[in-house]
Amino acid sequence: MDVMRAVLLGPPGAGKGTQADLIREALGVPHISTGDLLRTAVREGTDLGIQAKGYMDRGKLVPDELVVGLIRERLAGDAAGGFLLDGFPRNVAQGETLEQLLQETGVALDHVVSLAVPDGELIDRLLGRGRSDDTESTIRERLAVYEGETAPLCEFYRDRSLLREIDGLGTPEEISRRIMSRVN
Ligand code: AMP
Repeated sequence: MDVMRAVLLGPPGAGKGTQADLIREALGVPHISTGDLLRTAVREGTDLGIQAKGYMDRGKLVPDELVVGLIRERLAGDAAGGFLLDGFPRNVAQGETLEQLLQETGVALDHVVSLAVPDGELIDRLLGRGRSDDTESTIRERLAVYEGETAPLCEFYRDRSLLREIDGLGTPEEISRRIMSRVN
């Protein structure tokens, strides 16, 4: 199989991290989660972590320039031979930046997998997860940020014929089978 460059898109709680873990091995590419990278930076108390923490605690997006630095580093490093991006891009400006970064190295995305899950189910899942930014008020904020800033990326990628919409309800195995059947 050719090198795969894919993005996982979907609201918080849609199962992007779980699916990334299940399918990255099958795709043979590294899983890059900007949320995980940011949480590590916060835990380690780096400059980036200190700057990002307040936004994350409030359920807001971290400013683009902070996140783009992380992605640029990885695309030039272990992700040069393909990747599964989870949590990036998060708005249309980041989508445009990603497109430009890839163009500079002469490559392009293959698929954008969008996981669809109804809001009520998302809130139940997030409340059950117990992460420090999973309180009811931040959850509401993160869902609003998704609708306002991230969801427009669906249109952006539909226009580029890259969007693969997947029903995100079911067992993790059922959902990963749906994804694999669309990206292979
Ligand atoms: P996640 O683990 O993807 O749900 O991300 C957790 C938090 O990290 C988000 O609520 C944002 O504050 C921040 N974050 C993760 N990825 C990005 C991104 N691409 N752009 C801006 N903020 C991000």
